[in-house]
Amino acid sequence: MKLQFEKNVDLLPHNTFGISAIAKEFVRIDKSAHVEEALEYLRKTKINHLVLGGGSNILFTQNVDALVLQNRLFGIELEKEDDMHVYVRVAAGENWHNFVLHCIRNKWAGVENLSLIPGCVGASPMQNIGAYGVEMSSVLNYVEAVNIHTSERHTFSLSDCELGYRESIFKRKEKGNWFITHVGFKLNKRPVFHIEYGAIADELDKMEIDTLSIKHISQAVIAIRSSKLPDPKILGNAGSFFKNPTVDLSVLRAIQEHDEKVPFYPVDENTVKIPAGYMIEHAGWKGKRAGNCGVHEKQALVLVNYGGATGHEIFTLSTAVMTDVKNKYGIELEREVNVW
Ligand SMILES: Cc1cc2nc3c(=O)[nH]c(=O)nc-3n(C[C@H](O)[C@H](O)[C@H](O)COP(=O)(O)OP(=O)(O)OC[C@H]3O[C@@H](n4cnc5c(N)ncnc54)[C@H](O)[C@@H]3O)c2cc1C
Repeated sequence: MKLQFEKNVDLLPHNTFGISAIAKEFVRIDKSAHVEEALEYLRKTKINHLVLGGGSNILFTQNVDALVLQNRLFGIELEKEDDMHVYVRVAAGENWHNFVLHCIRNKWAGVENLSLIPGCVGASPMQNIGAYGVEMSSVLNYVEAVNIHTSERHTFSLSDCELGYRESIFKRKEKGNWFITHVGFKLNKRPVFHIEYGAIADELDKMEIDTLSIKHISQAVIAIRSSKLPDPKILGNAGSFFKNPTVDLSVLRAIQEHDEKVPFYPVDENTVKIPAGYMIEHAGWKGKRAGNCGVHEKQALVLVNYGGATGHEIFTLSTAVMTDVKNKYGIELEREVNVW
């Protein structure tokens, strides 16, 4: 079937903030070969582009004067296995959490701490998704992508992807240049449990488990996330709106002079990470509402759409939060969410 290019499509159902934004053109890519066809169209029409997965890490502050390429490539393929590992190739449109559940059913370890993160597998390397002490970089093998400008197909190795804390080459140097079609994972047959982070150990205690498994960890993570984070189907949001800043020890010392209790996590000898949520909460923003949007009452890192908010309103709120934190802590917060 030929590709169907739709015009003037409202992206409201396609982003978890629940923001209305009109895409000039919209096309659903559900076959790998369709990528090249859509890219040819892009080059012919010289229209701008946006690749969209589940829309759970994007804020639309204006209409999208571009062709939206909605990634709907499906399939999970076991490539090979050895004593220690399984190698899996996953199409970019697969739902991330469904993939995690698939791994747990097959006893493939490594992604259980990343349970219930919304969005598609194809977006997971974009910001090296992470949660509860694990980042996807620990299981990434490669990324297959098509160059938007030349249609060249390329495989990025783990090191090519330049993954960091909520960072990758696809968010920086190569921003907007690639349509990710598949992600290769190297998962463990023998699990290494990560339960030291957040409330996982407490949650596991409540479950009264005899023999710990990756399924239990996934269940614990699901329980914690469901109690803390707003469900985008009920309250529009994109998870953590800001990154946790990494700062010099001298900055931490200066903060400690007026706030002894400020939490921090060592990154290396000279730098620490300070939770942005702590600073936002202590600056008085937790639960604050501004018109149709606000800062979530349980998790100060999350901005929410109470219904009918515009992206511009949410962006303005985020700027006010950033300015206030800068004034009170001297730290420049950075948005984690992609802004269009
Ligand atoms: C309730 C909630 C909780 C969350 N918790 C976490 C968390 O714990 N940890 C975490 O890291 N994130 C979290 N997020 C953020 C988000 O779920 C992830 O960043 C996720 O990977 C985004 O996937 P997506 O498919 O929705 O991406 P989208 O929002 O559709 O896109 C995000 C970016 O990736 C690009 N992109 C998407 N797919 C492709 C592709 N195939 N090729 C090229 N570019 C592409 C887009 O252009 C855009 O720039 C949370 C979000 C919500 C709503």
